[in-house]
Amino acid sequence: MYMVYMSDEEILSASLETNFWTWSAQGKVNPIPVKRADGVYFWDVHGKRYLDFNSMVMCVNIGHGNQRVIEAIANQARELAFAGPGMATRPRAVLGKLLREIVPEGLTHFLYTLGGADANENAIKLARAFTGRSKILTRYRSYHGATHGALALTGDPRRVAWEPYVMPGVVHFLDPYRYRSTFHLNRPEVSEEQFSQDYLNHLEEIIQYEGPHTIAAVLLETVTGTNGVIIPPKGYLEGVRAICDRYGILLICDEVMSGFGRTGRWFAVDHWGVKPDLMTMAKGLTSGYAPLGAVAMRQEIYEFFMDREYVGGLTFNGHPISLAAAAAVIEVMKDEHIVEHAAEMGVVMKEMLEELVERHPSVGEVRSIGLFGVIELVKDRKTREPMAPFNGFSAEMNALRKYILEQGVFLYTHWHTILLLPPLIITPEQLREGFEVIDRALEITDRMV
Ligand code: PLP
Repeated sequence: MYMVYMSDEEILSASLETNFWTWSAQGKVNPIPVKRADGVYFWDVHGKRYLDFNSMVMCVNIGHGNQRVIEAIANQARELAFAGPGMATRPRAVLGKLLREIVPEGLTHFLYTLGGADANENAIKLARAFTGRSKILTRYRSYHGATHGALALTGDPRRVAWEPYVMPGVVHFLDPYRYRSTFHLNRPEVSEEQFSQDYLNHLEEIIQYEGPHTIAAVLLETVTGTNGVIIPPKGYLEGVRAICDRYGILLICDEVMSGFGRTGRWFAVDHWGVKPDLMTMAKGLTSGYAPLGAVAMRQEIYEFFMDREYVGGLTFNGHPISLAAAAAVIEVMKDEHIVEHAAEMGVVMKEMLEELVERHPSVGEVRSIGLFGVIELVKDRKTREPMAPFNGFSAEMNALRKYILEQGVFLYTHWHTILLLPPLIITPEQLREGFEVIDRALEITDRMV
């Protein structure tokens, strides 16, 4: 009866008493006792309202409290709450059809997972089996998840402490991150195309040293998310595709964060017309209404396993409630033209970001694609010294984060950056509401310049 009788006050105390908090030192946690949510807002137990500028964990793309999705989940729970991963169910059938209509051409079959990390782990297992090769190339600025294997795939420094225990066979390469490219700093004469080519040459050189015949796949976030919203420069993604083709290496695009309308297209790869061999997704797939990830694969990869067993099913893979949630989310996105709306709001957000560059000396650069944006904060625009150390914290960033939250805007700061990923249903007025708070908050970091 706890679910019925636990008071609002106890939500926080009992959570603190019983829960182990991932991503936190246990003694330092300060969770928001969130109670309910609707649209682009959520409320805590004290009635304080937060504007959700991070779609919770970059996932509630269609916004909170969507009644159609809630109904679909309830109906599915009533009809068939669980079926084993090897069973054909109505939501499995419906979701497969819906996904085929929206994923890049050539991706025909879907392996369902519990989230993004295990989607990536499955993608590389498929790639290794299909190619008979073992190495996987990923980028240093990537984040691919926090299970053992996904942490090994991750390039960013959060993997380092775990490195002695994680999976071997992963080699990292550099992201085409112009603002912080050591080789291109203060070289505006280098064209975007040349810049891309330099980074493609770097990738190809690594492939040569590692031995192309040993490399199963290149795995990359189409748009690097957590580590800086790094948008592929002109020709880069197409170039990676061409290099993979040259050496028989599979291209895996991680669209866990960038998928399902986030960039103003169904998937970020759609901006460049690049067709991956495997594509991973999660987060926006169900908009967070239930846990689900997926690996989309080419027909040829599917066929390879026709007479081979694939060891990989988990008990809850393809959980009917999650599949039903995903199917409902995609239908809502289509019926309400949410991807198109995200593209329009992306233009509005870009203008607001540009205004911040004009007004605040601590803003070094802003980048965005659709409703996927970042503000990069620096102590000095010339040297680009970041407002917090790489892989670290600073008093200024902490103060900034605290102020923004106090003002009722929920967003994610990472090292020296502020990430902006509001729900895709946001209006211009709601965007302005959040940007006004950010504008005031940046006075804190401006004092450090
Ligand atoms: N890949 C990317 C690009 C992500 O941003 C994330 C999560 O933030 C993951 C994978 C891992 O997804 P999950 O947390 O669902 O395991």
